[in-house]
Amino acid sequence: MDIVKGIPVAPGVVVARAFVLEDTLERISPEHVEESGVERELDRLDVAFKKAQRDIQADRDRAEARLGPEPAKIFDFHLALIRDPSITNPIRTRIRADHMTAVYAVATGFRQVADRFRQMDTEVLRQKASDLHDLEHRLLVHLLGKQEDRLARVEGSVVVVAHELTPAAAASLDLQKVRGLALDAGGRTSHTAIVASALGIPVVLGLQRLSSAVRDGDLVIVDGDSGIAVVRPDPETLSRYERSALRSRERSRRLAEMAHLDPVTRDGTRIRLMGNIEFAHEIPLLLAQGGEGVGLFRTEYLYLTRPSPPTEQDHFEEYRRSIELLEGRPLTIRTFDLGADKYTQERAADPERNPMLGLRSIRYCLQNLPMFRTQLRAILRVSALGPVRVMFPLISTALELRQARMVLGDVMEELGEEGVEFDPAIPVGMMVEVPSAALLASSFAREVSFFSIGTNDLIQYTLAVDRGNERVANLYTGANPAVIQLVKAVIRTGRRFGVETSLCGELASEPSFTMLLLGLGLRTLSLSAGRIPAVKRVIRAVDIEQCERLARRVGSFDSERQVLRCLREELGQVIPDPDECWTED
Ligand code: PEP
Ligand code: MG
Repeated sequence: MDIVKGIPVAPGVVVARAFVLEDTLERISPEHVEESGVERELDRLDVAFKKAQRDIQADRDRAEARLGPEPAKIFDFHLALIRDPSITNPIRTRIRADHMTAVYAVATGFRQVADRFRQMDTEVLRQKASDLHDLEHRLLVHLLGKQEDRLARVEGSVVVVAHELTPAAAASLDLQKVRGLALDAGGRTSHTAIVASALGIPVVLGLQRLSSAVRDGDLVIVDGDSGIAVVRPDPETLSRYERSALRSRERSRRLAEMAHLDPVTRDGTRIRLMGNIEFAHEIPLLLAQGGEGVGLFRTEYLYLTRPSPPTEQDHFEEYRRSIELLEGRPLTIRTFDLGADKYTQERAADPERNPMLGLRSIRYCLQNLPMFRTQLRAILRVSALGPVRVMFPLISTALELRQARMVLGDVMEELGEEGVEFDPAIPVGMMVEVPSAALLASSFAREVSFFSIGTNDLIQYTLAVDRGNERVANLYTGANPAVIQLVKAVIRTGRRFGVETSLCGELASEPSFTMLLLGLGLRTLSLSAGRIPAVKRVIRAVDIEQCERLARRVGSFDSERQVLRCLREELGQVIPDPDECWTED
């Protein structure tokens, strides 16, 4: 039995067989085929070679156009290598004579040649080993398919175990079969974590080396309450967890009763609980949990889960469906927040060295105007059908906001000329998720109708801690006094300028932070549907004066430990079982 501690992301306990999703492409196990399967493997190999050559040629042409003939030569070299019979023939022989699968033959074939290069005398030749690794990787991607394709082959009731999962792959998990998720990588607010937590199954991330300790079919326990995975449990542990799975279902049932109760504090202050969604189809669940509208529609998932970029009509249909499902409740559509961890950099044609600080989000949209305008046209068109608001992500300078507004104004003009209906007074807001935006909130306040504080990014950019990196996950916390001060400053500025301010980062879903957020002055929170009942339970148990007192106390602390201890103590005063709400450690 192995017990591995990770980061709890979505609550609940599940016991099921593991489906291990090989991810690194490094761990290729020896596999052979029957004589009858040899031709099929050779065909697969040919297809993979053709596709890899096509990819290299495309990269070559792109490099030449952007950087000139010299850098393009590296791709000419790769093309020569991948066509070199002294490399390709032995791979074919491994399949034909040794009955290896194409995957295994490619991995062993390339690694053997790479090893030979590594032993050569000159540094120049030794470095060629990494070119061979690159080629092997290109071929294996085509032979193994994308994570989404492999996930389509899941059978029965399983826990998916992987080193890493893209947010798009997480969004496409078949919930009839996948009962839990355990990943080596990721932090509490990585985008994969956010998508996974909306699935309603127990999820633990940041399990470091779990995927190498598990084999397909092993019995695995995913404890999303404590952030633990147990591999091959002994009978005693198994029966303990079966009892705890029962308790966890009972707790969810009790919380579900909260759905029809109003989020009102004991002194009668009404709090608005909105939902964070990635797709329109999440809205019925959101409403069932008591959500009062959509505070954050992460539209980039429309882009990430389809083979080609969404057309204006694709956008329009999805937003229209949302507005219809919301029946008059507000819909806040955030424009594409693409980049960073929302697509895997390894698969990008030209990966960025520091994507979290790179061409992501509004920066990406402002450099890809046709794509941005397409989305804005659809948002505006749907604004004629109901209460739609548009929100720009990752604004870090006033110029960016003005440029985004200018593009919006331009698109409005275009629609006007075409005689297309839209709401000319559509509320325009921005995410405050970069310290510069929080510090300059009073300048921005003159130019927007609303602020939505995105603590997921605000924490990472304030503390210089990658939100998705499990190695620094212990440093990533909203309890840091610097983060709390920034949040407080934005709320104050919003109040001073009459700009509606809400918070849509994962902190809004943490019952342990609810009192603090109310005490700082927030009256609207936007969170994933599944977390609404637990937060509502805290809201109904407190009064605002008590929350304000807590916020003042917290304001005097200079360490996150003090803050966390204080939040825990206060929660203990209002909720009989505070540990059930506690996820920060
Ligand atoms: C945030 O950064 O807090 C946020 C809500 O946006 P996302 O998690 O999509 O980056
Ligand atoms: Mg963000």
